[in-house]
Amino acid sequence: SFSALFSPARIGTMEVKNRFVVPAILSGLANPDGTVSDRLIDYWVARARGGFGLLITELSCVDPSGKAAPGQLGVWDDAFIPGLRKLPEAVHPYGAKIALQIHHAGRETSRAVTGSQPVAPSAVPCPIVREIPRELTPAEIEELIEKFGAAARRAKRAGFDAVEIHACHGCLVSDFMSAYANKRLDGYGGDLRGRMRFAMAVVEKIRSLAGPDFPVLFRMSGAERVPGGRAIMESKAAARLLEEAGVSAIHVSTGVNASGPWIVAPACVSPGYNVADAAAIKEAVGVPVLAVGRINDPDLAEEIIRTGQADLISLGRESLADPEFPNKVADGRNEEIAPCIACMQRCQGRGIDENDTGVSCLVNPFCGKEGTLKIAPAAQPKRILVAGAGPGGLEAAWILAQRGHRVTLYEKEPVPGGQYRSGAVPPFKQDIAKAVRYYLRMGQKYGVDYRFGTAVTADLVRREQPDAVILATGGQPLVPELEGADGPRIIQAADLLAGRATAGERVLIVGGGMVGVETADFLGERRHGVTIVERLPQLAGDLNPAVQYFLFERLQRYGVTMISGAQVTAFLEDGVRYEQDGRQQSLTGFDTIVLAMGVRPDHSLAEELRELVPQVFVIGDALKPRKALEAIAEGARLAVGM
Ligand code: SF4
Repeated sequence: SFSALFSPARIGTMEVKNRFVVPAILSGLANPDGTVSDRLIDYWVARARGGFGLLITELSCVDPSGKAAPGQLGVWDDAFIPGLRKLPEAVHPYGAKIALQIHHAGRETSRAVTGSQPVAPSAVPCPIVREIPRELTPAEIEELIEKFGAAARRAKRAGFDAVEIHACHGCLVSDFMSAYANKRLDGYGGDLRGRMRFAMAVVEKIRSLAGPDFPVLFRMSGAERVPGGRAIMESKAAARLLEEAGVSAIHVSTGVNASGPWIVAPACVSPGYNVADAAAIKEAVGVPVLAVGRINDPDLAEEIIRTGQADLISLGRESLADPEFPNKVADGRNEEIAPCIACMQRCQGRGIDENDTGVSCLVNPFCGKEGTLKIAPAAQPKRILVAGAGPGGLEAAWILAQRGHRVTLYEKEPVPGGQYRSGAVPPFKQDIAKAVRYYLRMGQKYGVDYRFGTAVTADLVRREQPDAVILATGGQPLVPELEGADGPRIIQAADLLAGRATAGERVLIVGGGMVGVETADFLGERRHGVTIVERLPQLAGDLNPAVQYFLFERLQRYGVTMISGAQVTAFLEDGVRYEQDGRQQSLTGFDTIVLAMGVRPDHSLAEELRELVPQVFVIGDALKPRKALEAIAEGARLAVGM
């Protein structure tokens, strides 16, 4: 039972219907001038309708000097109030409460965004942005305190139920609190109480301008995870001071800009990795505490509440992957929850094309497009044959079936998943298997007829006579047309990961993209001696920097040799010849050579089928080598339009 998650919570005067929270995520969905857009409203309505009790908007800027990014929400002027009002009006009918997060970027922005030199407690550059900020004068500090207060008052006038002060990840309030960034000699620096003075004054100002009953949440990092940054003991003392100043709840995140990989928390970071810090803060204060950080499992969330480690649970990326998470848990439909696989490929990366802007999700391509990309009943139900049970085919199949089409999905392998089967094998990638289970479940729910172990041929299509065929059959592993490429020691990475091939003691991996480096991770953990050779100047250039950070740490620990900017020109019996900086070199002495060079498209069947079926579509690797991100989005877009 999930009774703890579905019991109401109280934050100051605000009653929240359950313990599910969507935390602030910079969405890129606001209008370029910082006003609320229809897309942003649709995004929040989806999460309110999905059952979340409390929604916390993305960071809204209290002053143009603190803009973090173009298109960030603004609240620095009364002119924003009519636009902001649309958000509470849109989500309140679903029983959700909504807080406006208020923010000033401090030194975590640049002239290019704000048009002026960034400001900070001290003239010390952020290690990531590296732009020297200007130290704020006491008079300017007073002004900014006033601006936070005025922003909260506007939020209240716009109908928000609360505000949340953004004071983590190294923004202005966060930096004032931190010995890592605050080197001031006046009353806003020095000991902890001095460094907390700005934050406490902001809380008190909000109380006086927005009224003592208006709930004020405070989001801080439990540990800053940088040399000289705040550790949890000091954060507990800071939290007590904030309670004294009048905060209604504390939302415990982690890190500053320079410890970004910990904020991002890719798949190698354990689910719930930050809960211990929330629990520590909860020991220190009497106000409710919110926990956040890679929580994507209902049982884990229930455990955190039940054991009193936190009072509410923030599901950040998981709310992108599945805005209906709470409703599905309430209905006992946990298997229908689309899991966040912590891939960082879409919520923190580029879209699949120039139309794919703003926040979205690899697993849920509907995220950020809730108002335009919709699953509606088909005008004319058809018989549709999908070939290939990789992520693109699986996604297309369940959506088509939900729309009322009769869908048969054929897969030549005896099991579904396509490249996701081998993709789930390297360390920390199990969530990919969870995603395949989710797709299968959705297909079962809507009646997809799965036929595994059967390849689609022209004969089969002739017999079935569908109205349309979607070819999502993937590609063929790429074998370069080079001398020696058919050597006996050469195997494919997918075969190794899927258990169809084994590697000897010394292994050379040719190809250092995602698959190559993850294969090295897999082999390194098994103590093989591994060398990777990659033609591009950077290994794993297709991975998010946070993913790279932890992965390279492991590869270095395993002693993996990494060679980049090296074009393989021939395969030898026990190695390769390659060209680097115009010089021919060779690597030898390997027992196994693993190819991780991608796939080549295989749509040979398409032309033949066009003679037999009115509509033939080719998606994913079958069309052009691509990532699951693109294949899933293509599958979804095609399926909603058929
Ligand atoms: Fe999670 Fe990946 Fe979706 Fe981001 S893109 S929310 S990391 S599944």
